[in-house]
Amino acid sequence: MDLYEYQAKDLFAAHGVPVLPGRTAETADEAAAVAAELGTAVVVKAQVKTGGRGKAGGVKLAKTPEETKERAEAILGMDIKGHTVHRVLIAAASEIAEEYYFSFLLDRSNRTFLAMCSAEGGMEIEQLAVERPDALARVPVDAIAGVDKAKAAEIVAQGKIPAAVADEAADVIVKLWETFVSEDATLVEVNPLVRDPQDKVIALDGKVTLDENAGFRHPGHADLVDQRTEDPLEAKAKAKDLNYVKLDGEVGIIGNGAGLVMSTLDVVAYAGEKHGGVKPANFLDIGGGASAEVMAAGLDVILGDPAVKSVFVNVFGGITACDAVANGIVEALKILGDAATKPLVVRLDGNNVLEGRRILDEANHPLVTQVDTMDNAADRAAELAAAGV
Ligand code: GDP
Ligand code: MN
Repeated sequence: MDLYEYQAKDLFAAHGVPVLPGRTAETADEAAAVAAELGTAVVVKAQVKTGGRGKAGGVKLAKTPEETKERAEAILGMDIKGHTVHRVLIAAASEIAEEYYFSFLLDRSNRTFLAMCSAEGGMEIEQLAVERPDALARVPVDAIAGVDKAKAAEIVAQGKIPAAVADEAADVIVKLWETFVSEDATLVEVNPLVRDPQDKVIALDGKVTLDENAGFRHPGHADLVDQRTEDPLEAKAKAKDLNYVKLDGEVGIIGNGAGLVMSTLDVVAYAGEKHGGVKPANFLDIGGGASAEVMAAGLDVILGDPAVKSVFVNVFGGITACDAVANGIVEALKILGDAATKPLVVRLDGNNVLEGRRILDEANHPLVTQVDTMDNAADRAAELAAAGV
């Protein structure tokens, strides 16, 4: 889960990383009130989960509450790379002597954590990485050893942070590591990490990605979810503990095992090309134990998507055999009753497949068609979806 800047900076503050005081506002009047409360010049910042807000005009300085109101009026409602601005952060403005870049992230390809540091921050870091890779230090971090003051000093030196603020920057980096570890983050990025005219080092921007798989350790993290921008179907699926991702096609997909579901998406997209370009409507992995309840919950979410015109249930029986899955489908359709309205193409294979197919044949549900191979089933599901569009 990606956080907003203001949420990232709240976490920073909780772990002792220096940030400037501020509060969010959803209206221009509220923004002016926050500025009056702070009693200083402020920066008005669009809160959207995308970078380059500054370039897009979503970050503006304001000297007075009146000016803050004008800036907030201009920024609220703005569209930045497809994200509507519903909220601005009003933070005390900083004077900037220099802008640095710093991040901790999970380096999957090298199976380690990585610190990235540069004395040349502020600009888009991707550009710096391509144009002047030497200016961006990449320092592997051992997960067990972590980052103590000595390691932080090494990172700061490699990033060529000036000596005058090296010690303070190292302190900040140790606290950012504490944030990264104790919040179970996979990314903590500060761009810019600024040096002010008094040589204080401050996190002026913040980007944090939390590992949702560690959510059970952090009851507070659930509150960081923005209901307003969360997809309602994804929220419903999450409430039912389903592994669901909404896509923008017409063929609903249910499968068991992430790998099988991924290949199902490919096969359906390919088949869809022959049927007016229909595409998969979602990813949904119901996992190993496909009980009737889980199948019903999955079907319920998928059928709740108005874009879905047909559903492809693709199951390879393993530990949970095909007969159990077939019973699950039959029971699920009973549970859903009239709520089930769209054609279902079911492909069963694997453990106990013959018994599974027999159960579905016997139930003879009007919405269910059985097809024996994955390719043919995908083709049939795409055809039905195209007919329903
Ligand atoms: P981003 O463009 O989405 O990365 O948003 P940032 O928070 O990084 O802001 C973009 C730029 O605005 C920064 O690199 C700074 O140059 C400038 N900026 C942000 N906050 C302040 C501030 O408090 N004072 C000053 N002078 N400039 C700021
Ligand atoms: Mn930034």
